[in-house]
Amino acid sequence: MLDVMTLNVALTMVSMTVLVLSFFSVYLKDRTRYSAWWIGVLLMAAVSNAFTAMVTDANEPYTIPLANLCGVLSAACAWGASRALRHLRTGWRLALLGSAATLVATVVEGPSLGYWAGTLVTLLAMSGFFGLAAVDLWQLRRDHSGIGGRHTASGGATAVTGLAVAVSALASYYGLRAVLYAALGPEHPVFDAIAGVGANALALLVLLVVVTFTMTELSQVERVIDLQIRATLDSLTGLWNRDEFERRARARLARRHGGATVVVADLDRFKCLNDTHGHAAGDRALAAFGRTVRSAIAARDVAGRLGGEEFALVLTTDDADAVRSRLDAIREAYAGIRSADGTTMPTVSFGVAAAGEDEDLEAVLRRADAAMYRAKREGRDRIVVAAPSGATGASSQAA
Ligand code: GH3
Ligand code: MG
Ligand code: MG
Repeated sequence: MLDVMTLNVALTMVSMTVLVLSFFSVYLKDRTRYSAWWIGVLLMAAVSNAFTAMVTDANEPYTIPLANLCGVLSAACAWGASRALRHLRTGWRLALLGSAATLVATVVEGPSLGYWAGTLVTLLAMSGFFGLAAVDLWQLRRDHSGIGGRHTASGGATAVTGLAVAVSALASYYGLRAVLYAALGPEHPVFDAIAGVGANALALLVLLVVVTFTMTELSQVERVIDLQIRATLDSLTGLWNRDEFERRARARLARRHGGATVVVADLDRFKCLNDTHGHAAGDRALAAFGRTVRSAIAARDVAGRLGGEEFALVLTTDDADAVRSRLDAIREAYAGIRSADGTTMPTVSFGVAAAGEDEDLEAVLRRADAAMYRAKREGRDRIVVAAPSGATGASSQAA
């Protein structure tokens, strides 16, 4: 039989050590909402065990309620961490309700049940919060388009799965303990063997190991994702930066099945907007153009900021009418935007070139760029289509 006292002291020492190490090596480095909640799990588990280890007949009215409360809070923090991983809002109300119910039940049952006061509510609440955390984690695992997809792509899938399995096991374990406690009572040998204090300490030990592993792993993944975003996205417009645009555009042209069209877009008299309304107004106009383009293009299309107020798109079609109507939709949507101070957005000049069979990105971009300059010369605020590759001249469409 396990010596409960020794086990609890060992568990407290281990969880304190893990807590300190995780705080300095993970939390202080990335300061994500997710790792803050996991620090909460470790802290509450450690404090709960410290209180359990300290229980004497004299201090029972204080140590037992606090131990139970911290146990429930640690499970609630696990739920908070899972919500944070999915970028969902924290369920504060339910977490507070569960904690308050545990505290009240433990205090009320104290005089009659002593050491076992509040056990049933504590077990049910812990099972419930671990269960909610498990649901969120499995959802995250399935949700490939959201952050779950990003984790999967960046090697965090094992960590998320491990976490989901461990948290599901804990939810079942605490649920089983609640059932055995209610059915057999705390003094029954079966309850003691399967679900007594010693077994509980072992379960927490497993939780500690899983938490530490996944927290390190996922914080690494988050950091990689963060760096990837910074290295590839233009922060002002939310479109790909020049390097990433070229990389993706080249891949898109190489792997296309049907036709593809390259568009170069340049905001008209942008310098004038900057000079009249200020650089910040210029930035807002750029950001709004980025938003407009993002909501107008298809998932397979590629859009980037080449620099300044110049943009490029690769549309996965060579149907001239489809391209024209897509660009007209962008012009219309952009023209309809008003910033807070009432300023209108600048007009846009577009140069369009359908990619030839074996034409590389540089060559199509050059033709689209020349068409865009022709749009400028012809009076701006229009779409000019370059002649097919190999031919000379261009056809234009006035605004
Ligand atoms: P055109 O119609 O011929 O394109 O005239 P334009 O004024 O738009 O073109 P020009 O190249 O003369 O000026 C571009 C201006 O864009 C100059 C530069 O200060 C401004 N600009 C470049 N990047 C940014 C930016 O990130 N934010 C802001 N606010 N302005 C920028
Ligand atoms: Mg311009
Ligand atoms: Mg320009």
